[in-house]
Amino acid sequence: MKLHIATIGVTLAIIAGIVADSGSAQQAPVKRDFESEIRTALQSAKTAAGFDFLGTLVRTCLLPQSGGENITDNVPGYVTNPASAPPRNTWHAEPAKIFDNFYFVGGKLHSAWALTTKEGIILIDTIYPYNSEELIIGGMQKMGLDPKNIKYVIISHAHGDHIGGAEMLQTRYGARVVMGGPDWDLVEKYPNRYKTMAPKRDIVATDGMKITLGEATVTIWLTPGHTPGTLSYTFTVSDRGRPVNVAYSGGTAFNFVNNTPDPGIKNFQTYIESQKHIAEKAAAVGATVLLSNHSEFDSAVNKNRMLAGRGEGPHPYELGADWVQRYFQVLQGCARAAQLRLEQQLAETAKR
Ligand SMILES: [Zn+2]
Repeated sequence: MKLHIATIGVTLAIIAGIVADSGSAQQAPVKRDFESEIRTALQSAKTAAGFDFLGTLVRTCLLPQSGGENITDNVPGYVTNPASAPPRNTWHAEPAKIFDNFYFVGGKLHSAWALTTKEGIILIDTIYPYNSEELIIGGMQKMGLDPKNIKYVIISHAHGDHIGGAEMLQTRYGARVVMGGPDWDLVEKYPNRYKTMAPKRDIVATDGMKITLGEATVTIWLTPGHTPGTLSYTFTVSDRGRPVNVAYSGGTAFNFVNNTPDPGIKNFQTYIESQKHIAEKAAAVGATVLLSNHSEFDSAVNKNRMLAGRGEGPHPYELGADWVQRYFQVLQGCARAAQLRLEQQLAETAKR
């Protein structure tokens, strides 16, 4: 775990240089070696990823990107015809108690979490409409938690794999729903896309907003990029009585227009700045745990299994502050490499 710490400073310096340089793209400097800049950005991401963040590296650096944002307003197939939803064995996972006051109530691929307090429960993300009932409600009950105590639901972003249960939780339990302003707008703009998943507009998140319930506080950070309203968080949990700080990364893949210089370069810049923002906040609170809303990125489901055999050993979710920073370096390095390809495309168009 601690082997690569010496390289972090170097990686950070490289990324800082890379990011600082990006504003100069529009001035088309005389001779830029784009291939070498791209290699440097990719290398910084690979170095930061180590073995812990291979899933994140693969998704953001290696797999082909989607190209653009979704502007259709169609009812998802799994809502029109619930029988077409993915079979249970592809998503079912057991709930788990992760910390003294923090529970996993998600599935194999997508995560939802319950932060418990004396005054009730803060639920983070709500997976799909077709599995939120079994995984969240059923999972909480298996863990001895009463879903009626859900007071807040915080949605990292308005995609069907995270907002799916929000309408149900708001309607059934009267939970307050927190989401980023631009993502509340998406929900209102696309009534078909969000059918059965659309909570009524409630709390609009602002940067640094604190959601406090009992003795717990979740601090919200605006990290636009994956969607325009993507949220990330910092909060404290307790491990056998010891406080542990968590950074929660709310959006990962490049789901914005990313295949044309305009607006791709600007979109990547927004994304990169958001990763720097949450990384700074994570460092400021000394976050040693990195959570995501996809197991692909934080290996939650594997760690839940490891946790069962923990004994007196270290907590499998606790990576250390350096590794939390490295997570955000992977995202920045991969985004910068993709942004550079667009800058290169722009420079080549300008030459003609
Ligand atoms: Zn998403």
